[in-house]
Amino acid sequence: ALHGQVVSVNPFTEQEVGSYALLAKNSIDRKLDQADVAFKQWRKTALDERIALIKRVATQLAENKQGLATFITIEMGKPINQAKAEIDKCIALCDYYCKNAHQFLRAKPISSNLKNSRVEFQPLGVILGVMPWNFPFWQVFRFAIPTLLAGNTVVVKHASNVFGCAEAIAKTFNQACPENTYIHLPVSSDLIPEVIAHNAVRAVSLTGSEKAGREVAQQAGHHLKKVVLELGGSDPYVVLKDADISKAAERCATSRLINNGQSCIGAKRFIVESAVARQFEELLAEHICKAKMGDPLNKSTELGPLARQDLLENLHCQVLESTSRGAEIVCGGEIPVGKGFFYEATVLTNVAKDSPAYNEELFGPVAAVIPVLDEDEAMQVANETSFGLGSAIFTADSNKAEQFAANVEAGACVINDFVRSTPELPFGGIKNSGFGRELSEFGIHEFVNIKTIAG
Ligand code: NAP
Repeated sequence: ALHGQVVSVNPFTEQEVGSYALLAKNSIDRKLDQADVAFKQWRKTALDERIALIKRVATQLAENKQGLATFITIEMGKPINQAKAEIDKCIALCDYYCKNAHQFLRAKPISSNLKNSRVEFQPLGVILGVMPWNFPFWQVFRFAIPTLLAGNTVVVKHASNVFGCAEAIAKTFNQACPENTYIHLPVSSDLIPEVIAHNAVRAVSLTGSEKAGREVAQQAGHHLKKVVLELGGSDPYVVLKDADISKAAERCATSRLINNGQSCIGAKRFIVESAVARQFEELLAEHICKAKMGDPLNKSTELGPLARQDLLENLHCQVLESTSRGAEIVCGGEIPVGKGFFYEATVLTNVAKDSPAYNEELFGPVAAVIPVLDEDEAMQVANETSFGLGSAIFTADSNKAEQFAANVEAGACVINDFVRSTPELPFGGIKNSGFGRELSEFGIHEFVNIKTIAG
């Protein structure tokens, strides 16, 4: 039984690229029951067998890289080189967890006043992943690979504008792993409460907006099911006057434009000591404005369109509201004429405290420069946000850098460079950016029963 349809639209051509049927409630229940049956088998497989199957998943990705990357670009608009890099990153993630799973999941002896005490890491059951469109492969892999290796099965509700990617991912897993170990659940988000309520579902991992996070966390809370939330960010990048300003501007511009400006850990607020603010914003604008805008399938394109028209409209409203509250446009600020959901690479400066560019996440190629008097004010402004995902500081003084890293309210801080995720390091936020961690040993321990055994 079906429950409507969704369509994918190529954000560059504005043409429909696919139409996908949504599942109705009774079909959802059946799929979740199947995931549960699969779990009872999967949990019994030896870890070496699970590792061998995940290696096959990685091989499939490598073999189909060009086609998968092209699909990402067609469906959500990121430049093709970045789409290929996304597939490579998924392969590296598989390699990392395949190499380290034994060490991470091995029973750990702990001495106590009980005999032979130890902890074991056991799977929980069916884990639901609710995933966004901005890194349509990476976000799913980051969730699914450690979760599956730990012995759980997964069901994934993908963002409804990238169901083509969702089907390609499911195919990749289904060719390598036993049936129903990985299930693509094409449902609309209004049926997610039913999924969370289902007995087989033991926990939820959501990557997406704060709004979706709140709703999913509320439903999971009602059913006493664990959640991991990777939500938005408005990452502060502090630039002190003793920094290498030209390097800082280059790093900041790169981070701001990654994924057409649609990355949760993109540099968003540039908090700059006023002595160097002018110099910084000019250099930043130079880098940002020279980014080559165009067809994302063209290898030389650096800035493609935003993923959807509504995202473009929302971003432009945030810019207009910010300028009406005093922000000045250094460059950009317009929707270019012509086809595609493009937004000009934009630098705003003198962004005021009561404006969206100061308080909200800008999910597009718009940099907000906030000049401050000194490093104390920089610290205060950096933390004056409801988010707490990534952060960075540029300075030649390592003591100042360490002090900032110690006090910034964020899940990560990088000194003299921009924040990137990598399989070895835990990833996640505090405050309204969510809770829990993905990647690294911490990530694989989110969806396990840490069982104490002694005697
Ligand atoms: P979104 O609108 O929240 O969508 C994310 C996922 O949640 C989609 O699958 C969406 O389904 C689903 N969803 C939406 N509302 C829901 C609800 N009420 N109940 C259950 N599911 C619901 O976010 P997005 O626009 O795809 O992604 C952009 C946001 O994600 C940004 O804020 C970004 O910073 C954040 N993000 C965070 C990270 C991180 O690691 N922290 C990584 C990437 C992105 P539909 O598509 O069907 O609505």
